[in-house]
Amino acid sequence: MDMTVVSHGNILPPLTDILPDPRTLMGPGPSNVHPRVLGAMAQPTVGHLDPTFQQLMEEIKQGLRYAFQTKNALTFPVSAPGSAGMEMCFANLMEAGDKVIVARNGVFGARMLENVTRFGGIPVDISFGWGTAIDPNRIEQALKDHPDAKILAFVHAETSTGVLSDAESLCALAQAHDCLTIVDAVTSLGGVPVKVDDWGIDAVYSGSQKCLSCPPGLSPVSFSDRAIARLRARTTPVPSWFLDLTLVMDYWDGAGGRTYHHTAPVNAMYALYESLLLLQAEGLERAWTRHRVQHENLVAGLEELGLSLPVDPAVRLPQLNLVTIPDGKDDGAVRAALLSEYGLEIGAGLGTFAGKAWRIGLMGHTARPENVAICLKALSYALSR
Ligand SMILES: *Cc1c(COP(=O)(O)O)cnc(C)c1O
Repeated sequence: MDMTVVSHGNILPPLTDILPDPRTLMGPGPSNVHPRVLGAMAQPTVGHLDPTFQQLMEEIKQGLRYAFQTKNALTFPVSAPGSAGMEMCFANLMEAGDKVIVARNGVFGARMLENVTRFGGIPVDISFGWGTAIDPNRIEQALKDHPDAKILAFVHAETSTGVLSDAESLCALAQAHDCLTIVDAVTSLGGVPVKVDDWGIDAVYSGSQKCLSCPPGLSPVSFSDRAIARLRARTTPVPSWFLDLTLVMDYWDGAGGRTYHHTAPVNAMYALYESLLLLQAEGLERAWTRHRVQHENLVAGLEELGLSLPVDPAVRLPQLNLVTIPDGKDDGAVRAALLSEYGLEIGAGLGTFAGKAWRIGLMGHTARPENVAICLKALSYALSR
Protein backbone atom coordinates (compact mmCIF):
# COMPACT_ATOMS: atom_id res chain seq x y z
CA MET A 1 0.00 0.00 0.00
CA ASP A 2 1.33 3.46 -0.92
CA MET A 3 1.47 5.47 2.32
CA THR A 4 2.79 8.69 0.76
CA VAL A 5 0.81 11.77 1.75
CA VAL A 6 0.70 14.98 -0.23
CA SER A 7 0.81 17.95 2.15
CA HIS A 8 -0.58 20.49 -0.34
CA GLY A 9 1.46 22.99 1.68
CA ASN A 10 -1.28 23.13 4.31
CA ILE A 11 0.44 23.88 7.57
CA LEU A 12 -2.34 25.15 9.77
CA PRO A 13 -1.55 27.95 12.22
CA PRO A 14 -2.71 27.58 15.84
CA LEU A 15 -6.33 28.65 16.31
CA THR A 16 -5.27 31.33 18.78
CA ASP A 17 -3.13 32.88 16.03
CA ILE A 18 -6.25 33.29 13.91
CA LEU A 19 -8.73 34.45 16.54
CA PRO A 20 -8.71 38.07 17.75
CA ASP A 21 -9.02 39.22 21.36
CA PRO A 22 -12.67 38.79 22.39
CA ARG A 23 -14.93 40.99 20.28
CA THR A 24 -17.86 43.02 21.49
CA LEU A 25 -20.56 41.70 19.18
CA MET A 26 -23.10 44.43 18.49
CA GLY A 27 -24.19 43.41 15.02
CA PRO A 28 -27.32 41.52 13.91
CA GLY A 29 -26.04 38.28 15.54
CA PRO A 30 -24.26 36.34 16.78
CA SER A 31 -24.27 38.24 20.04
CA ASN A 32 -21.81 37.76 22.87
CA VAL A 33 -22.08 34.35 24.50
CA HIS A 34 -22.41 34.16 28.26
CA PRO A 35 -19.21 32.69 29.79
CA ARG A 36 -21.23 30.04 31.60
CA VAL A 37 -22.63 28.90 28.25
CA LEU A 38 -19.13 28.62 26.77
CA GLY A 39 -18.08 26.66 29.85
CA ALA A 40 -21.02 24.29 29.47
CA MET A 41 -19.93 23.49 25.90
CA ALA A 42 -16.59 22.20 27.18
CA GLN A 43 -18.22 19.45 29.28
CA PRO A 44 -17.35 15.92 28.11
CA THR A 45 -19.47 14.64 25.25
CA VAL A 46 -21.94 11.84 26.04
CA GLY A 47 -23.69 9.57 23.56
CA HIS A 48 -26.73 11.17 21.93
CA LEU A 49 -28.88 8.25 23.13
CA ASP A 50 -27.29 8.14 26.61
CA PRO A 51 -30.01 8.08 29.31
CA THR A 52 -28.57 11.28 30.81
CA PHE A 53 -28.73 13.00 27.43
CA GLN A 54 -32.35 11.93 27.10
CA GLN A 55 -33.05 13.67 30.39
CA LEU A 56 -31.24 16.75 29.11
CA MET A 57 -33.42 16.73 25.97
CA GLU A 58 -36.55 16.76 28.14
CA GLU A 59 -35.17 19.64 30.25
CA ILE A 60 -34.33 21.63 27.11
CA LYS A 61 -37.90 21.16 25.84
CA GLN A 62 -39.19 22.47 29.18
CA GLY A 63 -36.82 25.45 29.05
CA LEU A 64 -37.95 26.27 25.53
CA ARG A 65 -41.63 26.03 26.51
CA TYR A 66 -40.91 28.71 29.10
CA ALA A 67 -39.03 30.88 26.59
CA PHE A 68 -41.87 30.56 24.03
CA GLN A 69 -44.61 30.73 26.71
CA THR A 70 -46.28 27.61 25.40
CA LYS A 71 -47.60 24.24 26.48
CA ASN A 72 -46.98 22.81 22.99
CA ALA A 73 -45.68 19.24 23.34
CA LEU A 74 -43.82 19.58 20.03
CA THR A 75 -41.22 22.14 21.16
CA PHE A 76 -37.52 21.37 20.58
CA PRO A 77 -34.33 22.74 18.97
CA VAL A 78 -33.62 21.82 15.34
CA SER A 79 -29.97 20.74 14.94
CA ALA A 80 -29.19 23.58 12.54
CA PRO A 81 -29.36 27.40 12.46
CA GLY A 82 -32.48 29.58 12.33
CA SER A 83 -32.80 29.25 8.57
CA ALA A 84 -33.38 25.50 9.01
CA GLY A 85 -36.17 26.22 11.50
CA MET A 86 -37.74 28.48 8.87
CA GLU A 87 -37.44 25.78 6.22
CA MET A 88 -38.85 23.13 8.57
CA CYS A 89 -42.03 25.18 9.11
CA PHE A 90 -42.68 25.59 5.38
CA ALA A 91 -41.62 22.04 4.41
CA ASN A 92 -44.06 20.47 6.89
CA LEU A 93 -47.08 22.79 6.99
CA MET A 94 -47.56 23.51 3.31
CA GLU A 95 -47.98 21.30 0.27
CA ALA A 96 -47.41 22.11 -3.37
CA GLY A 97 -50.33 24.18 -4.65
CA ASP A 98 -51.15 25.72 -1.27
CA LYS A 99 -51.70 29.46 -1.18
CA VAL A 100 -49.57 31.23 1.43
CA ILE A 101 -49.76 34.92 2.33
CA VAL A 102 -46.31 36.30 3.11
CA ALA A 103 -46.17 39.70 4.84
CA ARG A 104 -42.73 40.98 3.98
CA ASN A 105 -40.87 44.02 5.34
CA GLY A 106 -37.21 43.07 4.93
CA VAL A 107 -34.64 40.40 4.12
CA PHE A 108 -36.06 37.60 6.23
CA GLY A 109 -39.61 38.00 4.96
CA ALA A 110 -38.17 37.72 1.45
CA ARG A 111 -36.61 34.40 2.44
CA MET A 112 -40.01 33.17 3.63
CA LEU A 113 -41.39 34.02 0.21
CA GLU A 114 -38.54 32.08 -1.40
CA ASN A 115 -39.42 29.04 0.75
CA VAL A 116 -43.06 29.14 -0.39
CA THR A 117 -41.99 29.25 -4.04
CA ARG A 118 -39.38 26.51 -3.70
CA PHE A 119 -41.84 24.14 -2.02
CA GLY A 120 -44.30 24.67 -4.87
CA GLY A 121 -46.71 26.97 -3.05
CA ILE A 122 -48.64 29.90 -4.48
CA PRO A 123 -47.28 32.97 -2.70
CA VAL A 124 -49.38 36.07 -2.05
CA ASP A 125 -46.68 38.69 -1.62
CA ILE A 126 -47.74 41.60 0.60
CA SER A 127 -44.73 43.86 0.92
CA PHE A 128 -44.06 46.86 3.12
CA GLY A 129 -41.37 49.54 2.89
CA TRP A 130 -37.95 48.98 4.43
CA GLY A 131 -37.94 50.24 8.00
CA THR A 132 -41.74 50.05 8.40
CA ALA A 133 -43.85 47.52 10.28
CA ILE A 134 -46.39 45.10 8.79
CA ASP A 135 -49.75 46.88 8.66
CA PRO A 136 -52.49 44.57 10.04
CA ASN A 137 -55.15 46.39 7.96
CA ARG A 138 -53.48 45.40 4.71
CA ILE A 139 -53.13 41.82 5.98
CA GLU A 140 -56.81 41.72 6.87
CA GLN A 141 -57.62 42.87 3.33
CA ALA A 142 -55.31 40.18 1.88
CA LEU A 143 -57.03 37.52 4.00
CA LYS A 144 -60.42 38.71 2.67
CA ASP A 145 -59.15 38.80 -0.92
CA HIS A 146 -57.73 35.28 -0.63
CA PRO A 147 -60.20 33.15 1.36
CA ASP A 148 -58.44 30.04 0.02
CA ALA A 149 -55.10 31.00 1.65
CA LYS A 150 -53.95 28.32 4.07
CA ILE A 151 -51.09 30.05 5.89
CA LEU A 152 -50.05 33.57 6.92
CA ALA A 153 -46.27 33.88 7.33
CA PHE A 154 -44.37 36.87 8.71
CA VAL A 155 -41.29 37.98 10.65
CA HIS A 156 -41.99 39.26 14.16
CA ALA A 157 -38.69 41.13 14.61
CA GLU A 158 -37.14 42.08 11.24
CA THR A 159 -33.40 42.09 11.94
CA SER A 160 -32.59 43.65 8.58
CA THR A 161 -34.24 46.93 9.59
CA GLY A 162 -34.82 46.82 13.37
CA VAL A 163 -38.62 46.82 13.19
CA LEU A 164 -41.05 44.98 15.47
CA SER A 165 -44.44 44.02 14.02
CA ASP A 166 -47.62 43.34 15.97
CA ALA A 167 -47.58 39.53 16.00
CA GLU A 168 -50.56 39.29 18.33
CA SER A 169 -52.92 41.20 15.99
CA LEU A 170 -51.63 39.42 12.90
CA CYS A 171 -52.19 35.99 14.47
CA ALA A 172 -55.71 36.98 15.59
CA LEU A 173 -56.55 38.01 12.02
CA ALA A 174 -55.17 34.76 10.62
CA GLN A 175 -57.26 32.73 13.06
CA ALA A 176 -60.41 34.65 12.21
CA HIS A 177 -59.81 33.66 8.57
CA ASP A 178 -58.97 30.04 9.34
CA CYS A 179 -55.31 30.40 8.36
CA LEU A 180 -52.36 28.82 10.14
CA THR A 181 -49.49 31.12 11.10
CA ILE A 182 -45.75 30.69 10.62
CA VAL A 183 -43.89 33.26 12.72
CA ASP A 184 -40.17 34.08 12.60
CA ALA A 185 -39.11 34.80 16.19
CA VAL A 186 -35.37 34.44 15.59
CA THR A 187 -34.48 37.88 16.94
CA SER A 188 -37.53 38.43 19.15
CA LEU A 189 -37.26 35.38 21.44
CA GLY A 190 -35.81 36.40 24.80
CA GLY A 191 -35.59 40.10 23.85
CA VAL A 192 -39.25 41.15 23.59
CA PRO A 193 -42.47 39.30 24.52
CA VAL A 194 -43.23 36.23 22.39
CA LYS A 195 -46.40 34.50 23.61
CA VAL A 196 -47.03 31.46 21.48
CA ASP A 197 -50.16 30.19 23.28
CA ASP A 198 -51.78 33.55 24.11
CA TRP A 199 -51.33 34.79 20.56
CA GLY A 200 -52.28 31.46 18.97
CA ILE A 201 -49.12 31.05 16.89
CA ASP A 202 -49.15 27.71 15.02
CA ALA A 203 -45.52 27.36 13.99
CA VAL A 204 -42.65 29.42 15.35
CA TYR A 205 -38.89 29.20 14.91
CA SER A 206 -36.00 31.02 16.53
CA GLY A 207 -32.20 30.93 16.72
CA SER A 208 -29.73 30.30 19.54
CA GLN A 209 -27.37 33.17 18.71
CA LYS A 210 -29.53 36.28 19.06
CA CYS A 211 -31.20 37.03 22.42
CA LEU A 212 -30.48 33.65 24.05
CA SER A 213 -26.74 34.40 24.64
CA CYS A 214 -25.77 31.09 23.03
CA PRO A 215 -23.51 30.30 20.03
CA PRO A 216 -25.11 29.94 16.58
CA GLY A 217 -26.21 26.57 15.23
CA LEU A 218 -29.54 25.63 16.81
CA SER A 219 -33.09 26.64 15.94
CA PRO A 220 -35.73 26.30 18.68
CA VAL A 221 -39.15 25.54 17.16
CA SER A 222 -42.66 24.95 18.48
CA PHE A 223 -45.82 23.64 16.79
CA SER A 224 -49.46 23.89 17.91
CA ASP A 225 -51.97 21.03 17.77
CA ARG A 226 -53.53 22.70 14.73
CA ALA A 227 -50.15 22.63 13.00
CA ILE A 228 -49.72 18.95 13.84
CA ALA A 229 -53.23 18.21 12.53
CA ARG A 230 -52.26 19.92 9.25
CA LEU A 231 -49.11 17.81 9.10
CA ARG A 232 -51.09 14.59 9.70
CA ALA A 233 -53.57 15.53 6.97
CA ARG A 234 -50.88 15.88 4.28
CA THR A 235 -51.51 13.92 1.11
CA THR A 236 -47.90 14.20 -0.07
CA PRO A 237 -44.69 13.34 1.80
CA VAL A 238 -42.70 16.17 3.41
CA PRO A 239 -40.27 17.16 0.62
CA SER A 240 -37.19 17.17 2.91
CA TRP A 241 -35.90 14.09 4.71
CA PHE A 242 -33.83 15.88 7.37
CA LEU A 243 -36.55 18.39 8.23
CA ASP A 244 -39.48 15.93 8.16
CA LEU A 245 -41.20 16.48 11.50
CA THR A 246 -42.86 13.08 11.46
CA LEU A 247 -39.36 11.52 11.65
CA VAL A 248 -37.65 14.11 13.91
CA MET A 249 -40.55 13.86 16.37
CA ASP A 250 -39.76 10.21 17.14
CA TYR A 251 -36.26 11.19 18.24
CA TRP A 252 -37.28 14.21 20.33
CA ASP A 253 -40.34 12.57 21.89
CA GLY A 254 -39.63 9.81 24.42
CA ALA A 255 -42.94 8.19 23.42
CA GLY A 256 -41.57 7.89 19.89
CA GLY A 257 -38.91 5.54 21.27
CA ARG A 258 -36.03 7.97 20.62
CA THR A 259 -35.56 6.40 17.21
CA TYR A 260 -32.19 7.38 15.77
CA HIS A 261 -32.70 10.15 13.23
CA HIS A 262 -29.44 12.09 13.28
CA THR A 263 -26.69 12.56 15.85
CA ALA A 264 -27.72 15.55 17.90
CA PRO A 265 -24.93 18.13 18.39
CA VAL A 266 -24.49 17.11 22.02
CA ASN A 267 -22.21 19.91 23.21
CA ALA A 268 -24.29 22.55 21.43
CA MET A 269 -27.25 21.21 23.44
CA TYR A 270 -25.26 21.70 26.66
CA ALA A 271 -24.84 25.32 25.62
CA LEU A 272 -28.53 25.79 24.88
CA TYR A 273 -29.45 24.17 28.18
CA GLU A 274 -27.20 26.54 30.11
CA SER A 275 -28.58 29.57 28.26
CA LEU A 276 -32.16 28.48 29.05
CA LEU A 277 -31.16 28.02 32.68
CA LEU A 278 -29.80 31.58 32.70
CA LEU A 279 -32.99 32.88 31.09
CA GLN A 280 -35.13 31.12 33.68
CA ALA A 281 -32.98 32.48 36.53
CA GLU A 282 -33.23 36.02 35.19
CA GLY A 283 -36.90 35.67 34.30
CA LEU A 284 -38.42 36.64 30.96
CA GLU A 285 -39.87 39.93 32.22
CA ARG A 286 -36.48 41.05 33.49
CA ALA A 287 -34.77 39.97 30.27
CA TRP A 288 -37.28 42.00 28.23
CA THR A 289 -36.80 45.01 30.54
CA ARG A 290 -33.00 44.73 30.30
CA HIS A 291 -33.17 44.85 26.50
CA ARG A 292 -35.53 47.82 26.55
CA VAL A 293 -33.52 49.81 29.10
CA GLN A 294 -30.20 49.28 27.28
CA HIS A 295 -31.92 50.28 24.03
CA GLU A 296 -33.11 53.52 25.68
CA ASN A 297 -29.58 54.19 26.98
CA LEU A 298 -28.11 53.58 23.55
CA VAL A 299 -30.64 55.83 21.80
CA ALA A 300 -30.03 58.67 24.31
CA GLY A 301 -26.26 58.38 23.79
CA LEU A 302 -26.54 58.22 20.00
CA GLU A 303 -28.72 61.34 19.96
CA GLU A 304 -26.12 63.12 22.11
CA LEU A 305 -23.57 62.26 19.43
CA GLY A 306 -25.90 63.88 16.90
CA LEU A 307 -26.93 60.58 15.33
CA SER A 308 -30.51 59.77 14.37
CA LEU A 309 -32.58 56.60 14.08
CA PRO A 310 -34.81 56.37 11.00
CA VAL A 311 -37.34 53.86 12.39
CA ASP A 312 -40.54 55.22 13.99
CA PRO A 313 -40.07 54.96 17.80
CA ALA A 314 -43.42 53.14 18.08
CA VAL A 315 -42.13 50.11 16.16
CA ARG A 316 -38.43 50.13 17.07
CA LEU A 317 -36.91 46.83 18.03
CA PRO A 318 -34.89 47.27 21.25
CA GLN A 319 -32.37 44.59 20.33
CA LEU A 320 -31.56 45.92 16.84
CA ASN A 321 -31.08 49.62 16.24
CA LEU A 322 -30.96 51.15 12.78
CA VAL A 323 -28.77 54.30 12.86
CA THR A 324 -28.42 56.78 9.99
CA ILE A 325 -24.84 57.23 8.80
CA PRO A 326 -24.07 60.98 8.94
CA ASP A 327 -23.39 62.76 5.64
CA GLY A 328 -19.77 62.54 4.55
CA LYS A 329 -18.90 59.58 6.78
CA ASP A 330 -17.60 56.46 5.12
CA ASP A 331 -19.61 53.40 6.15
CA GLY A 332 -16.87 50.81 5.68
CA ALA A 333 -14.08 52.95 7.13
CA VAL A 334 -16.02 53.66 10.33
CA ARG A 335 -16.92 50.00 10.85
CA ALA A 336 -13.32 48.96 10.14
CA ALA A 337 -12.06 51.48 12.73
CA LEU A 338 -14.53 50.22 15.34
CA LEU A 339 -13.34 46.66 14.75
CA SER A 340 -9.60 47.34 14.72
CA GLU A 341 -9.44 49.98 17.48
CA TYR A 342 -12.16 48.75 19.81
CA GLY A 343 -12.76 45.12 18.83
CA LEU A 344 -16.37 46.20 18.29
CA GLU A 345 -18.55 44.71 15.58
CA ILE A 346 -21.66 46.53 14.34
CA GLY A 347 -23.73 45.59 11.30
CA ALA A 348 -23.98 47.16 7.86
CA GLY A 349 -27.29 48.36 6.48
CA LEU A 350 -29.24 46.17 4.04
CA GLY A 351 -31.64 46.82 1.17
CA THR A 352 -32.53 50.49 0.83
CA PHE A 353 -30.38 51.16 3.92
CA ALA A 354 -27.19 49.67 2.44
CA GLY A 355 -24.44 52.29 2.90
CA LYS A 356 -26.99 54.62 4.54
CA ALA A 357 -27.42 53.11 8.01
CA TRP A 358 -25.73 50.87 10.55
CA ARG A 359 -27.38 48.15 12.57
CA ILE A 360 -26.40 48.12 16.23
CA GLY A 361 -27.43 44.97 18.06
CA LEU A 362 -28.16 44.70 21.76
CA MET A 363 -29.00 41.04 21.99
CA GLY A 364 -28.78 38.62 24.89
CA HIS A 365 -25.58 38.85 26.93
CA THR A 366 -24.54 41.85 24.80
CA ALA A 367 -27.44 43.94 26.20
CA ARG A 368 -25.53 45.35 29.18
CA PRO A 369 -24.57 48.91 30.18
CA GLU A 370 -20.82 48.36 29.68
CA ASN A 371 -21.39 47.47 26.02
CA VAL A 372 -23.58 50.52 25.40
CA ALA A 373 -20.76 52.62 26.87
CA ILE A 374 -18.08 50.95 24.70
CA CYS A 375 -20.21 51.45 21.60
CA LEU A 376 -20.85 55.15 22.25
CA LYS A 377 -17.19 55.81 23.05
CA ALA A 378 -15.98 53.93 19.97
CA LEU A 379 -18.49 55.67 17.67
CA SER A 380 -17.59 59.07 19.05
CA TYR A 381 -13.91 58.30 18.35
CA ALA A 382 -14.48 56.88 14.87
CA LEU A 383 -16.77 59.75 13.81
CA SER A 384 -14.40 62.46 15.04
CA ARG A 385 -11.47 61.22 12.98
C1 LIG B 1 -30.69 35.68 11.96
C2 LIG B 1 -32.07 35.55 11.44
C3 LIG B 1 -32.50 34.43 10.70
C4 LIG B 1 -31.57 33.35 10.24
O1 LIG B 1 -30.96 32.67 11.28
P1 LIG B 1 -29.60 31.87 10.99
O2 LIG B 1 -29.29 31.26 12.32
O3 LIG B 1 -28.61 32.87 10.51
O4 LIG B 1 -29.89 30.85 9.95
C5 LIG B 1 -33.82 34.36 10.32
N1 LIG B 1 -34.69 35.34 10.63
C6 LIG B 1 -34.32 36.43 11.32
C7 LIG B 1 -35.33 37.49 11.63
C8 LIG B 1 -33.00 36.58 11.73
O5 LIG B 1 -32.63 37.66 12.41
